[in-house]
Amino acid sequence: MYDTKAIMRKAFRISKVRNESAIRIRVPGGHLDAAHLSVIRELAETFGNGTVHLTTRQGYEIPGVKLTDLGAISRHMAEMIADIEVACGVVLESPEDGYPAAGTRNVCACIGNRVCRFANFDTTALARKIEQAIYPNHTHLKVAITGCPNDCIKAHLHDIGIVGTVVPEYDPSRCIGCEACLDNCKKKITNALSFEDFAITRDEDYCLRCGECILKCPTGAFSRGKKLYRILLGGRTGKRNPRLAQTFVENATQDIVLGICRNLHRFIATYIDQSKAKEHMGYIIDRTGFDTFKSFVLEGLTLGPDVKVVQPTNPGYVYPRRP
Ligand code: SF4
Ligand code: SF4
Ligand code: SF4
Repeated sequence: MYDTKAIMRKAFRISKVRNESAIRIRVPGGHLDAAHLSVIRELAETFGNGTVHLTTRQGYEIPGVKLTDLGAISRHMAEMIADIEVACGVVLESPEDGYPAAGTRNVCACIGNRVCRFANFDTTALARKIEQAIYPNHTHLKVAITGCPNDCIKAHLHDIGIVGTVVPEYDPSRCIGCEACLDNCKKKITNALSFEDFAITRDEDYCLRCGECILKCPTGAFSRGKKLYRILLGGRTGKRNPRLAQTFVENATQDIVLGICRNLHRFIATYIDQSKAKEHMGYIIDRTGFDTFKSFVLEGLTLGPDVKVVQPTNPGYVYPRRP
């Protein structure tokens, strides 16, 4: 007889195949040293069925391992998981015992500015800092980071989504009036630019701070100003009430992002309905109210005059329940 709860808390999955499990490996930010792939291959070929699944959360899952081998597997992958977590600043006390928790899911990120020209920051670096802020922990929490408002990582479907933004700075002395920035914003984004009196003006109320006008400008009249973050709240999938996240904080600094992430578990631990196996944060906020959530997660943070805190209002889609 196995303690399935204890097995799952160490990030192993309980398989539908009797006496089998699957190994799950966290990859914060979805970015890994290639050397670790040889360990993943060894694990799959030695303990699993020789295959590896890429998870929806950018981790690895190795199916077909025997429940009797979990101790040996933990010892075999100890150096690798310690190395991955140390890169995030997380020190695992006993890596030879495997992961200490699984509730807080792998932090996902798009590829960011190491590769993508649209990216406004290094998503992997931030993912690793957030991993340090939220892991290990048993509370169920999903965080994703997207380098620009294109949201390739689907941050709008997470409890917390971090969107990289940039303030475009305009130098009229370099502007030749070609309107390439304006045409692009009008066609593809929010039509936030106007050309009047031989100069471009940007409407703050409509600008998403995606930074595409900077990329389009042939003369450098638009350049990169402050990098700030938009924090989205309350996204989720799920059977009955899926929902897109909405803006919670606009113009957040990295310190605010990390401070909020650190405070999330305290809110969840205080208000979670213990009768439910793993109540998701969005449902807890629905129950306790936004103001309670806000006062917990902003506690101790200095917001500054440019930071805006907004209450998300999207109820999501509710599949009707038969009366
Ligand atoms: S979300 Fe933006 S930065 Fe990230 S991969 Fe997509 S386009 Fe690039
Ligand atoms: S940052 Fe994006 S939304 Fe804002 S003006 Fe430039 S292109 Fe338009
Ligand atoms: S793309 Fe650059 S040069 Fe052309 S109108 Fe816009 S700011 Fe001026």
